[in-house]
Amino acid sequence: MQTQDARASVWSAAILCQPYSSLSYALPPYLPVHVWHPGMRVLVPMGQSNKLCCAVLERSVPALPTEKKLKSIFWPLEKEAVLSADYLEMLENVAARQLTSLGRVLASVLPASLRRVPDGWRDRKNKKIPFSSGRDNREFLSRLAEFWMQGELDVKSPGGKEPALTVSSDPPWPIRPQARVQWAVMDLLYAHGPRTASSIRAELGQGSTKALQALQDKELVCPCKPGDEPEGGSLEAGQDFCFSPEQKEALKHLSPRLRQGFGACLLHGITGSGKTLVYLDLARQSLEMGRSAILLAPEIAIARQLYQQARQYLPGAAIYLHHGSKGPSSKEKTFVELGQEKKPVLLIGTRSALFMPVQDTGLIVLDEEHDESFKQDQTLIYQAKEIAWYLASREEALLVLGSATPDVKTFHAAQAGHVSLVEMHSRIGKSTLPQVDFVDLKNDPPVFGAMAKTCAEALKETVKRGEQAVIMHNRRGYSPVLMCESCSETVKCANCQVGLTYHKKRNRLVCHYCGISVSFPPVCRHCRGSEFIPVGQGTEKVEEFLARHLPDTQVLRLDRDSTRSPGKAEKILQDFAQGQARILVGTQMLSKGHSFPEVTLAIVLDGDLGLGLPDYRSSERIFQLLVQLSGRSGRGEKPGRVFIQTRNPGHFCWQYIRDCDYKGFFQQEISRRQKFGYPPFVRLGLIRFSFPDTWEGKADFLAGLRKKAKQAAAVSKVTMLGPAPAVLSRLKNRERHQFLVKSSDWAGIKQAYLELRPLFERYRQVRASLDLDPVNM
Ligand code: ADP
Ligand code: ZN
Repeated sequence: MQTQDARASVWSAAILCQPYSSLSYALPPYLPVHVWHPGMRVLVPMGQSNKLCCAVLERSVPALPTEKKLKSIFWPLEKEAVLSADYLEMLENVAARQLTSLGRVLASVLPASLRRVPDGWRDRKNKKIPFSSGRDNREFLSRLAEFWMQGELDVKSPGGKEPALTVSSDPPWPIRPQARVQWAVMDLLYAHGPRTASSIRAELGQGSTKALQALQDKELVCPCKPGDEPEGGSLEAGQDFCFSPEQKEALKHLSPRLRQGFGACLLHGITGSGKTLVYLDLARQSLEMGRSAILLAPEIAIARQLYQQARQYLPGAAIYLHHGSKGPSSKEKTFVELGQEKKPVLLIGTRSALFMPVQDTGLIVLDEEHDESFKQDQTLIYQAKEIAWYLASREEALLVLGSATPDVKTFHAAQAGHVSLVEMHSRIGKSTLPQVDFVDLKNDPPVFGAMAKTCAEALKETVKRGEQAVIMHNRRGYSPVLMCESCSETVKCANCQVGLTYHKKRNRLVCHYCGISVSFPPVCRHCRGSEFIPVGQGTEKVEEFLARHLPDTQVLRLDRDSTRSPGKAEKILQDFAQGQARILVGTQMLSKGHSFPEVTLAIVLDGDLGLGLPDYRSSERIFQLLVQLSGRSGRGEKPGRVFIQTRNPGHFCWQYIRDCDYKGFFQQEISRRQKFGYPPFVRLGLIRFSFPDTWEGKADFLAGLRKKAKQAAAVSKVTMLGPAPAVLSRLKNRERHQFLVKSSDWAGIKQAYLELRPLFERYRQVRASLDLDPVNM
């Protein structure tokens, strides 16, 4: 009888902080069994010192391990579970796919405030009773349990109201922090975006508190203002929507699919063909059927634009917006509200919105489905497209993947009939695709900054006519290389061995990989020289150059540096759309989905950038990037032009980009992949691992690993290439290596990884991860 009781009271809980495992706990004697529900957040003791951790009760009630004495759950964090069984099941599936634990997945998808350990109970008068007082005192706990059952006691997470801090967008010049810690704080904020004071303290230690205050006094750091939701978007208020013939045709195909259970569809429509309205109308129909819809965009700025458009198109609908740079309390609010929502909702957001607890989803749309930002390759590695696919099939929903330049794998799936294909061939209204020309830099060398004469003249003309131009250069900062005048050595990051980029506005040399910065001018590590020549140019320099040579022309810049604080990107885009500047210079951020009717000229300064990368998708990437960028020109009534500067005028991609010929490009690319054995004809996985570069045991470890890898490849029937140094072979004082695994199925790749994992885990110096279908190789 006793065992029976004990077995019934053993629960499994997924821990939301390191070690992220799932452990079994007994239910405590002081609370009745019926208070516990799967999906409920609870506090559990962990480790020697019995520190309290946040955990989530799992659905499974495992059998009691006989010989082990179990610890008990300490206390529930809520009276009703915030996580539904369906939701937990989805996360369990994600965890299984990525060979990781439910705890780790939860830790990366739950809003931070839902993972925090509160500091005590609150009684009815909101007076705090700290947990420490009587954690092992049965009687005390039993009394509290009585209050709990009577609803007189609560636990609340400490207020998540702490403001996020950010670097000022227009700091007093020149920037002058004094202490080293102050620079460290600045680097952290520059590299990772806004943070709260306590998270800065957690990262940099107590000393950062004073530094932070000093920086705030000097107005170098300030609290983030929540970004104002930009008004407008491209659907004008009160506009009567009259679908174009192609939009009607697309909807005729897609609408019935909303009633036919799971299905996936590729909406291949050229830039400016009006895909957005098709998505919004499908969402309307889904809501009318009583089912929720999720619309995903690759960038926050685009998600917000979509949100505005949706609010105009669907007044009265319950529409939510979720993206990574919303504040912690706002994320928690959206999360909890969505979980409790009784009506169908439209959720718009970036990839992480897939992890919001939306109920009964009838439609999932991924706009710009080819975009690499749908893949997350840090912390929790996942491809949003795959999760969307799984979710749609589970919910019997329609999945729509939209793009002008689909992922080669998606188009291949469409040709094979796994995904149905709907096409849109023409732009809305009078606008036509722009004329694209390639400028051979060997014949027409850059004279005007990085610009050939042809481009410079076209730019001047455009500005003179009162029209707008976008200039893309996929390098941020002022100059990517700084060379010592006397010995020609370049300046490198001491942690990563990659070149440092000079940022003139910050007046620092910055490592784009680890985020640390050093003062400018540096001292040459080889000859102690202090004269340096900046070589090459980044967006900052292009902007400066244009401002100098076209003095009466307003220039704006869009890149990661100019858009640090929330809402800044939208502000720049909105200012440009309203004609407050003639020229917008930027990185690839420019190419994504924006609609500027007055832009008639697009210039790409370095069309070749990226072609030489050791990645089987480099042609696909360049094709997508340049066609998308071209798509920003001539979207209004006036015809557009595009100039792409190159030193490889014969590259096979160019002709397809010029003709905007996706299918031509696809045919070439797919036959090349078949010939050389690349996806979609094989599955690829990347096993990454790293260790400190000073580790003495590394030679032994690598030798053991090589041997094990041979066995692993044979057992799992895969091809394993490596170990080879990663593209970034050293990062933050760690050596980085990788295996490229080719297989006919995912299972083989996973098995190969599982074969090696025990060896990785044997050394605490080693960190390893598996990336299925890697985007960055
Ligand atoms: P895509 O996403 O396919 O590149 P968009 O959806 O941004 O294209 O549409 C391009 C432009 O056409 C936008 O400015 C949009 O407001 C406009 N547009 C779309 N559909 C219609 C329509 N039916 N009538 C008038 N304008 C439209
Ligand atoms: Zn570095």
